[in-house]
Amino acid sequence: MFVTTIGLEVHVQLRTRSKMFCGCPVEFGAEPNWCTCPICLGFPGALPVMNHEALRLTVLTGLMLNCEIAPLCKFDRKNYFYPDLAKNYQISQYDRPLCARGALALHGSAYPKDAQKSIATIDKQVPLVRIHLEEDVAKSFHFETSTGIDFNRAGTPLMEIVTEPAISSPEEAFAFLTALKQILVYGNVSDADMEKGQLRCDCNVSVRPETQQELGAKIEIKNMNSISGVRRALAFEIERQTAALARGETLQQETRGWDDDAGQTFLMRIKESAHDYRYFPEPDLVPVKTELLLEEVRPRVPELPHAKRSRFMREYEVSDYDAGVLADKVQLAAYFESAAKGARKPKNVANWILNDLQSALATSGRTISDCPIPPEALDELVALIDSGKISSKQGKDVFAEMFASGKPAAVIVRERGIEQVSDSGAIESLCEQVIAANPKPVADFQAGNTASLNFLKGQVIKLSKGKANPQLAGEILERKLRG
Ligand code: ADP
Ligand code: MG
Ligand code: ZN
Repeated sequence: MFVTTIGLEVHVQLRTRSKMFCGCPVEFGAEPNWCTCPICLGFPGALPVMNHEALRLTVLTGLMLNCEIAPLCKFDRKNYFYPDLAKNYQISQYDRPLCARGALALHGSAYPKDAQKSIATIDKQVPLVRIHLEEDVAKSFHFETSTGIDFNRAGTPLMEIVTEPAISSPEEAFAFLTALKQILVYGNVSDADMEKGQLRCDCNVSVRPETQQELGAKIEIKNMNSISGVRRALAFEIERQTAALARGETLQQETRGWDDDAGQTFLMRIKESAHDYRYFPEPDLVPVKTELLLEEVRPRVPELPHAKRSRFMREYEVSDYDAGVLADKVQLAAYFESAAKGARKPKNVANWILNDLQSALATSGRTISDCPIPPEALDELVALIDSGKISSKQGKDVFAEMFASGKPAAVIVRERGIEQVSDSGAIESLCEQVIAANPKPVADFQAGNTASLNFLKGQVIKLSKGKANPQLAGEILERKLRG
């Protein structure tokens, strides 16, 4: 039997307005080389200036992941030559990362749907090695006979999160990235959109015989850009390595790429010798004490998804599953809370959000952030239904009009004159008319055919032009027919 070990190195683009060491804007999709200046183009003599918001966002991430925060923030130069690195060194952190240790919990909902029933370790904690801050490099574009370089990305703040080799399966790696992405979005640290390259990941994976103590040869799969791709690449790689070991081959440390279309990894390079980056302290940046930063950041630590989910279950009595879906996206959670705050039955509010609202948003191509129904207005609609003023069927029509026009529920109900009649005197007289006009169904009911009651109830509602409260109509009819 073979054992799998996985460790991830995740790069996250931070959500700052300007770059790490200059005032250039951080923009996605701007004209190539538009967001540049002598500092991020690496002109000799240009001096870096630290972006404190990037430090705060990194510290915030550290706090959300229970890391130890270094008392002093110091940067180092990592020296190497590459066309996308104009200075010939990258400003990074070597021996004193801003955050160390800490862990991320893998709760069930973070796993792929098809794997949620067979989770190996419930609520597993994946320990982290470190989180550090560095600057991103420029981006190369390879054309037919030339290569172009876009420096817009050069010098943008990049946070690197490194896990211990403690992930045991592709499904756990999937859960790790899903949970991490969720926390980054919750903390407003990054949009963490893998398609836009805001979250990039290198996967290290090795396989060894169960009887062997030390880890197997580390194979690194570079530059993964989707969470499902990570799962598939790891599954492929584990199978490939296991088969090789089973054939008696020995594996050696190497770097591979992932071909998503072919569903295969391919060899990029075999590790020649250890790189020598000649790290040394960045002389142009003064180390910063993190004490003040910590004070500023602590109030920004949000309630995390898992805690929110438990609280929703406790405070609003929604099911485990519903609480999970609501807490999954921070804006949806906020919408639910505003709508459910004053509600008599918050559970009904949750149902409307999870069913009707979600599907209306999906069909109209909107998200909760540009929802045409404000949360308070949804609460008002649910209250109208819960109090019996309109039926739930009428509620659906009112909802559709609210979604289309943005009008409040009460206005629509008034305009349409559909307020439900719950006045028992009025319904009683309708029932009497229906009984008098339908001797056959009445006799059927009295002979034991209970289904006739539904027919009679339908007649009452028809006579009321749909306004009679169906439950009340049923009760009154039954009382009269049995009496
Ligand atoms: P490097 O210095 O080559 O980047 P590190 O030891 O810093 O290597 O590890 C980088 C990543 O690889 C970490 O996430 C770590 O958990 C993981 N890792 C290290 N050794 C192994 C291994 N043998 N198998 C799987 N993952 C590993
Ligand atoms: Mg590495
Ligand atoms: Zn710049």
